[in-house]
Amino acid sequence: MKFTAKQAERYSRQIILKKIGVVGQKKLLKSSVLIVGAGGLGSPIAIYLAAIGIGKIGIIDKDKVETSNLTRQIIFSTDDIQKYKSTASIKKLKKINPDINLLSFNKKLTFQNINNVAKKFDLIVDGSDNFRTRFLINDYCFKNKKILVSGAISKFEGQVYTFNFHNGKSPCLRCFIPTMPEEPDVDNCENEGILGTLGGIIGSIQANEVIKEILQIGESLCGYILIIDGLKCSFRKVKLNKRSDCFCNEK
Ligand SMILES: [Zn+2]
Repeated sequence: MKFTAKQAERYSRQIILKKIGVVGQKKLLKSSVLIVGAGGLGSPIAIYLAAIGIGKIGIIDKDKVETSNLTRQIIFSTDDIQKYKSTASIKKLKKINPDINLLSFNKKLTFQNINNVAKKFDLIVDGSDNFRTRFLINDYCFKNKKILVSGAISKFEGQVYTFNFHNGKSPCLRCFIPTMPEEPDVDNCENEGILGTLGGIIGSIQANEVIKEILQIGESLCGYILIIDGLKCSFRKVKLNKRSDCFCNEK
């Protein structure tokens, strides 16, 4: 693969970085990432991953844009209201970077379709807003030895965790939350509220971790949970070990 003149110019500020270079940028352009949820987290994740040149990006979301989404779902404009989130976000990403391959899935990720949807991608980023989807993605990534970069936001706080299931050493979401919590039918943001900027903080960190995992640079967040308090502006990295009774620990 050879860069076109336009690509060389577009990605020049990354190519100049010693840890990325031509080889790293080509690796990003050859990689594929599925973003689950085009919401408060999915918006900055998608914008950054498209801008930095991930070669293939898929977005899955069943919902349509609502007025109350616009405080944090920055990929959408007011005239996107009532449009499908995945379609509207892909349209925006095409404008940001016409150089990449974009796929939209206007549906809910389920146990029945996850194999078919996710098999086309190397890495999964979880920006979903419910535990059922989080556990579904965790179990799929563990079984299929894929890297999962997950994030969660509520009120003024957020968390980021990376599970790299390539080597069998990573803990999983069930090590952190052994049983799926009961949830009300309404989504978390509607229930508890969320400050718009938290999606930007957590989603940008998720995008950053995705790039690190693809390029194998820096220190992986795998084995830790990053806990961020937006009001205190505190960032804490807490060690997450495998639970001895978790399925990810069975030989
Ligand atoms: Zn586990």
